[in-house]
Amino acid sequence: MKAVRNAPPGVEVIDIDEPDGDGELIRVAAAGICASDLSYLRWGSRQIAGHEFAGTLEDGTSVAVEPIFGCGACAQCERGSYNHCERGPTGLGMTDPGAMCEWFRAPRRAIVSLPAGIAVHDAFLIEPATVAWHACHMGPVGPGHRVAVVGAGAIGVLAALSAQTLGADEVHLACRHPHQHQAREHIGAAEPDGGYDLVIETAGSESGLHRAVELARPGGTVVYVGIYDNITWPHGEAFTKEVALRPSLGYCGHGGRREFAEAAEMLAARPDVTAMLVTHRFPIEEAARAFEVAGDRSHGVFRVAVDIQGDAR
Ligand SMILES: [Zn+2]
Ligand SMILES: [Zn+2]
Repeated sequence: MKAVRNAPPGVEVIDIDEPDGDGELIRVAAAGICASDLSYLRWGSRQIAGHEFAGTLEDGTSVAVEPIFGCGACAQCERGSYNHCERGPTGLGMTDPGAMCEWFRAPRRAIVSLPAGIAVHDAFLIEPATVAWHACHMGPVGPGHRVAVVGAGAIGVLAALSAQTLGADEVHLACRHPHQHQAREHIGAAEPDGGYDLVIETAGSESGLHRAVELARPGGTVVYVGIYDNITWPHGEAFTKEVALRPSLGYCGHGGRREFAEAAEMLAARPDVTAMLVTHRFPIEEAARAFEVAGDRSHGVFRVAVDIQGDAR
C-alpha cells in the first residue's frame, strides 16, 4: 500500500506492506498535517507520518480515530487519562508509525463513529478540535467566564469555538494574518482587551505566552497547548498576578465522557467552520508538496489535507 514517510526535511511516498496484527482495520480517507507533524520532521522522525485521520471500517462505518491510544490497561488509562498512560501515550508519526497510508489498524477503544454533519474526508479535523476542547476544560470556562485565545491557527479558532460552545460569556481571539481575521469575524469573536478568567495560548511561541499572561486577570489561568523550545518564561507578570500556568496535553475522557466524541459533535454542528478550516487538499502522490504548503504561513493555511482515497469532493 502507499504510505507517506517522514524523510527530513520533507516526506516521501513509499510502498509498504498492509498492516497485520490486532485492532480494527480502517481504510483511511484523508489525513491532516499539523504543527506537531512538522516538529516531528525537525526532530528527525523517520516514521510513517500522520496522526489526524479518519476513514471507514470494513463494514462501511465512517470513523475517526484518537491517535493517543494509551495501553488501555494501566491505572491512568482505566480512569480515562490515557494522555498520561504509564507506558507513555502513543505518538503516531513520532514514536509509532502514523496513519498517512491506505490502511491502518487501531484499537477499538480509540475509534469514534462520525456523527452526521461531518464528511469522512474532513473528519481528521476532529483531532485538533479535541486538543482545543480539552484545553478549554483545563481552566474556568462556561457561563460567568471571559475567555481569550492567543494564536488563530486551526487550533486557536477551534479553541474559541469550543469556549463559545461551552457557554463562556465572552470569547475573544488574538490573531495576526488576514485569513485569521476573516475567521475571527466568521465565528463572531473580537480582539482581546484584557482581564480574562481563562486565556488559551495556541501560538506555541514566546511572544504568544507572554501576551497570554498579560491578558489574564489577577488570579486567572493561562492554558497552553504549544511545544516551546528554549523560551523566556513570563515569570514576573505571572508571579505578581498569581496567574496559574497549565500545560494541556492532547485530550482524555472523564467519567464515561470522551472528549473526542464531544468535539466531534461540536464540529458536526458547524460544517461552516470545517469548510473554513480545511483550506488545502492534495492527493497522496503530492504529499511532499502538501507538507511544504503546511509549513508556509503565507498561503493562508489553516489545515492541509492529504487525500489517501481519491473520492473527496
Ligand atoms: Zn495534530
Ligand atoms: Zn496506559
